[in-house]
Amino acid sequence: PTPRRPIVAGNWKMNLNHFEAILLVQKLAAGLNEKQLTEVEVVVLPPFTDLRSVQTAIEGDKLQLGYGAQDISQHVKGAYTGEISGSMLSKLGVSYVLAGHSERREYHDEDDTLVNAKVKAAFANEITPILCVGEGLVTREEGTHVQHCTNQVLAGLTGLKPEQVKQVVVAYEPVWAIGTGKTATPDDAQEVCKALRAAISEKYGAEIGEAVRIQYGGSVKAANIASIMAQPDVDGVLVGGASLEAEEFTSIVRFKE
Ligand code: PEP
Repeated sequence: PTPRRPIVAGNWKMNLNHFEAILLVQKLAAGLNEKQLTEVEVVVLPPFTDLRSVQTAIEGDKLQLGYGAQDISQHVKGAYTGEISGSMLSKLGVSYVLAGHSERREYHDEDDTLVNAKVKAAFANEITPILCVGEGLVTREEGTHVQHCTNQVLAGLTGLKPEQVKQVVVAYEPVWAIGTGKTATPDDAQEVCKALRAAISEKYGAEIGEAVRIQYGGSVKAANIASIMAQPDVDGVLVGGASLEAEEFTSIVRFKE
């Protein structure tokens, strides 16, 4: 099997205006060399209002950075005030979109059916979804976290073609570790990422299971990246807070050094 190329994505959440976004993108590009950017795929996920500026900065200077959006509407177009469609994102050259981030699930009542519709809306516009799953503290304490996350992944992938499943990036983000400073142990991350890969392999075949990239997310920083990336089923990370600081984020990308 071809080795999975690590993917480090920065979820900026509701931070940085378009001026600040351009500055951060330029700093990230300046802090990483060609070898690092070839070995590791680096993606930024700015707010919608920054996307056009980020596109211009990246394309204008031919920077080897990918970019994506934090959400996508499940609808094609029309009377959905405040929503952003997949075709609008695709026109902005977006290659990734988060689907089902825990903050969307929690504050915007997104359930697995809606997340699945968003995953499909992404593919309909040639955008790769980063399907986010993860358990809350109660589920973790009950010990049913593996089943919980497996269910979320399989629900999110429902109805996709095998070649689409192969392309999806899955992000395992235990909710209790997001923005809390509490990181799952590398073993905790490996346990769930391994189980998610096994579930995908079981349903779609080993070739697809082995190809899917699975990220860990939850208070990742330069100080803990090496031990997380050392896990065999962790193929990258989704970074929130630490993605807003150029030096911290580029150190995360350089996890091998
Ligand atoms: C996230 O929002 O995806 C995330 C992992 O946040 P943080 O790194 O701040 O915990």
